[in-house]
Amino acid sequence: MDPTVHTIHELADLLKSRAISSREATEHYIERIARINPKINAYLAVIEEHALEQADDADARIGKGEVGPLLGVPLAIKDVICTRGVPTTCGSRMLKDYVPPYDAAVIERLAQAGAVILGKTNMDEFAMGSSTESSYFGPTKNPHNTDYVPGGSSGGSAAAVAADLCAGALGSDTGGSIRQPASYSGVVGLKPTYGRVSRYGLVAYASSLDQIGPITKDVRDAALLLSAIAGHDKRDSTSLDIPVPDYPGQLTGDVKGMKVGLPKEYFGEGLDEEVSRRVRQAVDVLREGGAEIIDISLPHTEYALASYYIIAPSEASSNLARFDGVRYGYREVHPDGGLTDMFEHTRSTGFGAEVKRRIMLGTYALSAGYYDAYYKKALQVRRLIREDFDRAFGAVDVIACPAAPTPAYRIGEKIADPLSMYLGDIYTVTANLAGIPGISVPAGMNGQGLPIGLQLLGRPLGEAEILAAAHFVQKHRTAEVPKPII
Ligand code: GLN
Repeated sequence: MDPTVHTIHELADLLKSRAISSREATEHYIERIARINPKINAYLAVIEEHALEQADDADARIGKGEVGPLLGVPLAIKDVICTRGVPTTCGSRMLKDYVPPYDAAVIERLAQAGAVILGKTNMDEFAMGSSTESSYFGPTKNPHNTDYVPGGSSGGSAAAVAADLCAGALGSDTGGSIRQPASYSGVVGLKPTYGRVSRYGLVAYASSLDQIGPITKDVRDAALLLSAIAGHDKRDSTSLDIPVPDYPGQLTGDVKGMKVGLPKEYFGEGLDEEVSRRVRQAVDVLREGGAEIIDISLPHTEYALASYYIIAPSEASSNLARFDGVRYGYREVHPDGGLTDMFEHTRSTGFGAEVKRRIMLGTYALSAGYYDAYYKKALQVRRLIREDFDRAFGAVDVIACPAAPTPAYRIGEKIADPLSMYLGDIYTVTANLAGIPGISVPAGMNGQGLPIGLQLLGRPLGEAEILAAAHFVQKHRTAEVPKPII
């Protein structure tokens, strides 16, 4: 039996019935990673010994009769999430030798649930990017076609899930970094409501936008993983003290009477025809299931990218000030230089080009004289975008749209043109600006065999509704979503 092909819930059933042990499942994964990872570079580190120890612990718990949806299940973690005693690089030279002395809140919760952590996955440097090409450790490749990007910045997690190199994974999403790679790689990715999941131990990119969420093989797994990681944590002051619903229990299989909004601004110029067709077909599936499809407008969408690309770099410029060669990891000292010289060399050579571009953009936008013109204006636009969604959710329960305007592109195609890369984030940054949840679920493939994702956006704390709609689409879609052959 090859356990690596299974979803989390299938594997949990096999573990519960003792058809397989967690150690056996973990060994299968480690063997498969050794064989497949060199082709796609999804993992930066595999923590074999630690994983096998966790697997043995899980087997002991199962032996005592304990049951749980994640007990003994092998998972992968984006390398922006702190893991005690295990390097956490953020895909950067700056942190290439950094070993955190503590676990992120989500890692603690996974440990309580008995999950096994296989390793840490590749990402755009400090989560800044949309293709996983800005990693200091080289790009991750799309398992459906290794000439193509897997999306980003959580491209390593998405590719690992797509290629059966883990049962499920965690990513982070500041402007689309869970939903867009899920869409490009043919898997499910969910960004929770801001505050639903603790950010304690997530290395900050843009703190008012960042959220951790699941990347999985199916929608039920996303619900299971979200249930495990969600909940209040007093170490993150923005974490919500609101009970966590039973997400898997709310996958009713029914969308009758659900009101689904189609925002005209998400189906306009620049949208690839095949993406548009597949997304509309997925919406038809909801219609046939008894959902009511309603045309809506989110009029400030056209200002979302401009606002995001001021706010995110501004917060990043502040968050990344701590990487100065003194407190963390990398340091470059020249024999005759002083302290300022050390800061300068460390930051010039420790960060890659995209990160430096963001720090400069952010520093500029926050500087005296420009603050009102850029940063303050961007915050005002952010409020208008939130109000667009508030109004829309007065009339509809979920909003359906593409996750990205195109399918995956070739490695190298956009790397020299940052602006065209930024434009690809147009349909995802809005949910982060508004703080609302969003999920990407595979809708089908294009003519070249590349996946296309349907994005469903929900009200604040409306995770159960978007999960239910995504679950219905996954179950009833007529378009095929084959596994990659790798
Ligand atoms: N692509 C977007 C950016 O580069 C979003 C990244 C993210 O969500 N971490 O900022």
